[in-house]
Amino acid sequence: MFSEEIKKYSWADTTARIATMTEADVRRALDKEHCTVDDFMALVSPAATPFLEEMATLSYRYTRERFGRTMSMFIPLYLTNSCANSCVYCGFHISNPMPRTILTPDEMEQEFRAIKRLAPFENILLVTGENPAKAGVAYLAKALDIAKRYFANLKIEVMPLSTEEYAQLIGHGLNGVICFQETYHRERYGIYHPRGMKSRFDWRIDAPDRMGAAGVHSIGMGVLIGLEEWRTDVTMMAIHLRYLQQRYWRTRYSVNFPRLRPAENGGFQPNVVMTDKELAQLTFAMRIFDHDVDISYSTRETPHLRDHMAPLGVTTMSAESKTEPGGYFTHPQALEQFAVSDERTAREVCKRLKELGIEPVWKDWDASFDMKRE
Ligand code: SF4
Repeated sequence: MFSEEIKKYSWADTTARIATMTEADVRRALDKEHCTVDDFMALVSPAATPFLEEMATLSYRYTRERFGRTMSMFIPLYLTNSCANSCVYCGFHISNPMPRTILTPDEMEQEFRAIKRLAPFENILLVTGENPAKAGVAYLAKALDIAKRYFANLKIEVMPLSTEEYAQLIGHGLNGVICFQETYHRERYGIYHPRGMKSRFDWRIDAPDRMGAAGVHSIGMGVLIGLEEWRTDVTMMAIHLRYLQQRYWRTRYSVNFPRLRPAENGGFQPNVVMTDKELAQLTFAMRIFDHDVDISYSTRETPHLRDHMAPLGVTTMSAESKTEPGGYFTHPQALEQFAVSDERTAREVCKRLKELGIEPVWKDWDASFDMKRE
């Protein structure tokens, strides 16, 4: 399990190693076809800043070679904002006296139909807060049963589950699971996640192992940028990615780098702020490190940045997302989990992608694809 593996890597030593990377280290990484984690550290280090253009060119080339000129489109549906955890950076935390909603099967149907009216989405991400007592595995199984009547590719972003539970949900049409570690800093993890199941660092960090063991087709990883030193956190994620690929080699992987923004009216303030330029550097570094991993940009990012980065490494995008439960039809005015920056419609996003020479892809996976290969 990765909870044991990560003990081999010291946070302080990794941070120091990244800080002392030189231009020669960056050049060495850029000259390689297959980068090591050490090379990745060079590419995300401050020493790589003068090489951004070269990195963009390489990232563009690898992306075109592996993915063509395509962008996989997906849309999230928040099923519930009910949550038993108390993440200090999230408005859905248990102590927030806000109205809680858990979509009923009828409401799910209405949401799915409303999404289909927006654009021909086939990739859906079902999202919940973490409340296994009220929206547990049986609830998720029901949601998947309904969703598969409308969508070809079903993913979930929910509480970490056991291997058996992931396997059970595969039987209901589950294809992919996203579970962000938020931060790999074991000692400081508890500060951000003081109560509830999410306070259990090892249970969360081992979730991708359990997904791999269960045979989940697609595993999504991520760190929440803004909690800890981002270069160290993404290096730990790169180590995690390599570890998983060696063990669960039939699985497809995706990465995401959601950024916390400074709160305007009090609330949690990020400890570190990543600039757009740094996000671009990280995106290029990840693509050069791993030519095949899906890199996802959500509507947290601005239209300008998404358009600019679309040809340069990003392979998956959401569009017209609502981050409140039932936000497409049932409860369009409820509280969002986070503010969306790209408020364009899905059709507007696609029109812009086409202008950039990128073909939006609505359906890039179907259960029958795998069956044909067996
Ligand atoms: S981040 Fe997720 S688990 Fe944490 S409080 Fe928000 S909804 Fe709950």
